[in-house]
Amino acid sequence: MRPVVPRALRGVQRSFARPNGFMPRAGQHIAQSLNLGLRLRLTLDLGCRSLSGTTARLREEETSDERQWSTPLAKQLAEAISATGPVPLASFMRMCLTADVGGYYTGAIEEGRDQFGLKGDFVTSPEISQVFGELVGVWFVAEWLTQGRPRRGVELIEVGPGRGTLMDDMLRTIQNFPAMANSIDAIYMVEASPKLRIAQKNLLCGEDAPMTESKSGYHSICKYTSLPIVWTETIKSIPVESEKMPFIIAHEFFDALPIHAFQCITVPANQDTPQHSSDKSSPSTKTSSSTLQWRELLVSPTPPGSTHATLNTPPSQSRSTPPPDFQLTLAQAPTRHSLYLPESSPRYRAIRQHTGAGAVLEICPDAALYASDFAARIGGSPKHPKPKPSGAALILDYGPGDGTVPTNSLRGIRRHERVSPFAEPGLTDLSADVDFAGIAEAATRASEGVEVHGPVDQGTFLEIMGIQERAEMLINAAMKADGGAADKEKFAEAVKKARKRLVDRGPGGMGKVYKALAILPENDGRRKPVGFGGDVEV
Ligand code: SAH
Repeated sequence: MRPVVPRALRGVQRSFARPNGFMPRAGQHIAQSLNLGLRLRLTLDLGCRSLSGTTARLREEETSDERQWSTPLAKQLAEAISATGPVPLASFMRMCLTADVGGYYTGAIEEGRDQFGLKGDFVTSPEISQVFGELVGVWFVAEWLTQGRPRRGVELIEVGPGRGTLMDDMLRTIQNFPAMANSIDAIYMVEASPKLRIAQKNLLCGEDAPMTESKSGYHSICKYTSLPIVWTETIKSIPVESEKMPFIIAHEFFDALPIHAFQCITVPANQDTPQHSSDKSSPSTKTSSSTLQWRELLVSPTPPGSTHATLNTPPSQSRSTPPPDFQLTLAQAPTRHSLYLPESSPRYRAIRQHTGAGAVLEICPDAALYASDFAARIGGSPKHPKPKPSGAALILDYGPGDGTVPTNSLRGIRRHERVSPFAEPGLTDLSADVDFAGIAEAATRASEGVEVHGPVDQGTFLEIMGIQERAEMLINAAMKADGGAADKEKFAEAVKKARKRLVDRGPGGMGKVYKALAILPENDGRRKPVGFGGDVEV
């Protein structure tokens, strides 16, 4: 039997072979790709509009009639690329995950299974043990207590709720603290997947509970509290109100947000294109004979007839899928994104200066948008001033905890196996390491009213939150309940195993690979939240 694996698998290695210098053809306007009958919710954002090239052109016959594409989405993507030229990795990733038709979270997976668990593609912590969501619930209760136990105005917001298991475990836990439960005004779920939205409604509201649609989203009533639950597709659709106390949870959400990838190259002086007109901070990267420039890695179709062998599918990736339809290629000229994204933080500029040619970098603009949004809700912003910062965001995911920027972390997963991220678009889960330091930077930039704690290892976080004690309580309660001794023993073993797995700090263990980061009201760093070195103040 295959192991059921979390997405942050052991021994992650390069996801893709080095770019082969594919020369893209001139991009055309997005309208043209839309005219091809594509239903792109995203923009295939033409990062390559300025590119030109003469070799290795995409031939129409490669992208449409003759070639067999592995999925309908692969065909759509190839047609779009034949019109626009190679697309940024972020555009590809967004389409693969959330395209209106045929995206991984939006309908590509066959009936009768979803992304999670044994029958799915990967497993997540809330699906491993109820204790995970219970402890997250307790963390928010602790914040509510510490932030003055307001009697109303609390909002629970979850982004990327999967099957709804985490919110269910949190809500059940919060019911044990009636004063907090009564303070909740509304629950918001940000979910791109219509199928998962229904699964969440069934779990949180009941199978028979009606779901209604309005301009602001989908609505139903929570079975625990009779509170309204509102589903939206993005966090932007949730109203920002200065008197609210938002408690925001993001578990394995940020890793699913699309990334751009860049590589630093040396450009001879005579081909020098200014890296950024306002970049006065890194003159040392320019010498009299050459300049260091970031170039974007773009997605284009693989040559027809490619095999895993010709594409050098890395040994760390299973070859159980058909050969990848797409590959990464290095843009031959700067793109819109390569001109500004790698210049948007001193952390990226330092990589260019210190590592120089060959350095690679992944940047997730959507992660910065979400982090900024969380921060503005908690701490206020020029657009939405808040008299008193309040609320908290807890982000649990995988990625470097030492402040380094993710590189080469894009991964594809199918049925608990690493596969090429460019194989079977729409059927393959795509994810990438989360840049926690980038999230912290975006949050504190967006609002003066917040501070960030962590990231800390999941193992440490859960242990301080009392995972051991909670697991023992569950086992003791089961032992006292009715039922056969063998079943009880089996239950106790399962609880112990799940606990161990969540805090495992061995190489590739979930306790070490997964991290927790908290965004809190600014307090001059004087109050550390529980799980991050602090205690509850009551
Ligand atoms: N938090 C859950 C699920 C993680 S999988 C768990 O840990 O079990 C990622 C979740 O984010 C799914 O629910 C998916 O549908 C949702 N998602 C992915 N990309 C999204 C996007 N761009 N906008 C909104 N939801 C998204």
